[in-house]
Amino acid sequence: MAHSGKCLCGKVTLKTNSLDNNMGSCHCSFCRKWSAGPFLSSACADLKIEGVEHLGIFESSAWAQRGFCKNCGSSLFYQLKNTESYYVNSEIFEKSDFFFDHQVFIDEKPNYYEFANQTKNMTGAELFAAFAPKE
Ligand SMILES: [Zn+2]
Ligand SMILES: [Zn+2]
Repeated sequence: MAHSGKCLCGKVTLKTNSLDNNMGSCHCSFCRKWSAGPFLSSACADLKIEGVEHLGIFESSAWAQRGFCKNCGSSLFYQLKNTESYYVNSEIFEKSDFFFDHQVFIDEKPNYYEFANQTKNMTGAELFAAFAPKE
């Protein structure tokens, strides 16, 4: 597949052909606890996972779960439950030409850091409104 990345210890590999070149960051308190900072991720819809025996899954909300390596602890992906909609950790891919496109939960970003990049920013409420099922 076109894109492939490994966790820190190398026991889990993520592969995808549909990795979005646009990268976003999430500043919500869950993502910051999970990744020691804003979670930088890119969407993909065809994730293949190698080393699933080392993959841990944590259900972080009623609608989403997070995948991590049980051996080294790397944060690997955020997934909308029961969908093929994944947001994978951009940093595990050997790819240097991502475009930093958007920031979400900008209203939960603490004041002690700020990206200089000019991006599209959404609050948590705006994000939920954009993804709310339409009737
Ligand atoms: Zn690992
Ligand atoms: Zn988040």
